[in-house]
Formats: sequence, structure tokens, C-alpha cells
Amino acid sequence: MKWRGRKRSGNVVDRRGSGGGFGRSAGLGGSGFRIPTGGGGRGGGLGIGAIVIILIIGAVLGINPLALLDGSLGTGTGTGSVSRPLPEAGQDDLADFVGVVVQDTEDLWSEVFAANDMTYDPATVILFTGTDSSGCGLADARMGPFYCPADQSVYIDLSFYEQLRSQFGAPGDFAQAYVIAHEVGHHVQNLVGVLPEYNRAIRTMGQEEVNAYSVRIELQADCYAGIWANYVGEENLLEDGDIEEAINAAEQIGDDAIQRRTQGVVIPKTFTHGTSAQRQDWFSRGYRSGDVSQCDTFSGAI
Ligand SMILES: [Zn+2]
Repeated sequence: MKWRGRKRSGNVVDRRGSGGGFGRSAGLGGSGFRIPTGGGGRGGGLGIGAIVIILIIGAVLGINPLALLDGSLGTGTGTGSVSRPLPEAGQDDLADFVGVVVQDTEDLWSEVFAANDMTYDPATVILFTGTDSSGCGLADARMGPFYCPADQSVYIDLSFYEQLRSQFGAPGDFAQAYVIAHEVGHHVQNLVGVLPEYNRAIRTMGQEEVNAYSVRIELQADCYAGIWANYVGEENLLEDGDIEEAINAAEQIGDDAIQRRTQGVVIPKTFTHGTSAQRQDWFSRGYRSGDVSQCDTFSGAI
């Protein structure tokens, strides 16, 4: 993707290097603690014990345990980090890259919203290292990038990109861009009411039903990422191999691929993001059509 020297979003906040540690916790009467995630970022399975603890904490704190998308749950708050603007352009490739990708998502979604007589209010994108506090609880780098509807922010630890390359086998700048565009897709879902409806509906659902609903939410975010890729193509900013990088990433982070890799056995009823084939398919639908009406993952088969 052509990104060097291009305009960066003003909505990316740099909190790298200022957080870390577990100095304060939210009403838990002591030091904060981590829910074990298996260290796998996306797809790191939680044991029953951890899930029970999460539900109890969620009930105590009044936090919907599924309010946060993609990351596994954080609890408590990290130490307060200092927010800074991004380093000067040209000083930090990853910050520049994220800034440009976020700007492109803002240009795209502003257009789409305007065409529907709506105004796009951009997400804040927070770069952090280690741990940080978020409106949805603790942000931990090991959770992978996530979107928090409560503060309308995307949280991303840039070390995830190294993990994406080495651990998930998904190298390339466009694989990284796809992840950002997917998270921004959740923000779009939040603005148009899809996420609020999801969070309302799942309160009365059993876990398998929640998982199935989650898959549809996630596949729509993939489709929206595809629409973003289509937009980048229209702007003549794609380079050879970009789309293949995104398609490969979609394959590597499919629930079946992750489960096969991490636990050696695939359990479809536990899927929350969709299979490799589904993720590739919905990204491609968005990419080929550039049309949000092609991203209805809620009616019909997926
Ligand atoms: Zn997601």
C-alpha cells in the first residue's frame, strides 16, 4: 500500500511507553490481575474458571463482559498513561502507517455516511505498549487489537504486528491495514446501532447463541474492511500483493485455523469470528463490491 508521505489522521493518540504495570484497579480492592489468555492474543481460549471469574467481575462492576470486541476481556484499569500526539511525520514508520490507514478509513466512512444523510464521527485510535486503561477495562497487549464501544476507541499495541507476521503467518503492510480497517468497522457498527443491538440481545442468550451472533458481527467488520480495501484501490493506492496479504491474514486468523494451530482440535460452536473461508469470503465481498449493502451478514446463511 502506498502510504509514505500521505496525510495522517488527527485522531490517533500515542500512549506508548508511558503505561505498564498494574498500579490501580477498579474497585477490586487491591492489585489488578490478569485473566489468563493462553498468551495467544486472538483466539487464546479462556478456561471455564476464567470465564466464571469474568462473569462474576462483570456482574460486580456492572460491565457487560462482551462489551469489548476482539480482545479477550480486561478487568480493572491499567495505570493511567499519558496521551501524546504522534511523533512528527517521518520519525516513526509504524505511527505514520497507522495514521495514514486511519485517515483513509475516515475519508471512506465520511463519504458513505454523507451519502446516507449521516455524519461520521471518527473513532479514536490509541497506540499503547504493555497495559493501559480503556473504557472497557484493562487493555493488555496480549489481547490483540480491539474496539471498545464505551469510549469509541480502537486500542492497538504495535507489537501485535510482529505477532501477526511471525505467530500468525500473516506478513505485509496490508495485513496490518486490514486489522485496523476491521476494528474501525466495529466503530461503524457502533455508530449505526448494530453493536448496541448486539449488546442488548446477548443478555438473554446462551453462550452458543452469543458465539453465533458474534460471528455475524465479526464477518460484517471483515466486509467493511473489504470496502475500505476497495476504496484504497479506487484511490490508486494499492500495490501488488496487497489484497493477497489481506486474504492471507483473513485465512490465518480464522477461528478454525487458530484452533487447529493452538489446540489441535476444532470446535465450531466456540467460534466467535468465523472460519478462514468465511472471513476471506466476506472481506472479498466488500472488496469486490465496495457496497455496504453487500455486507448484510445477519440475514441468511453465512
Ligand atoms: Zn472484530
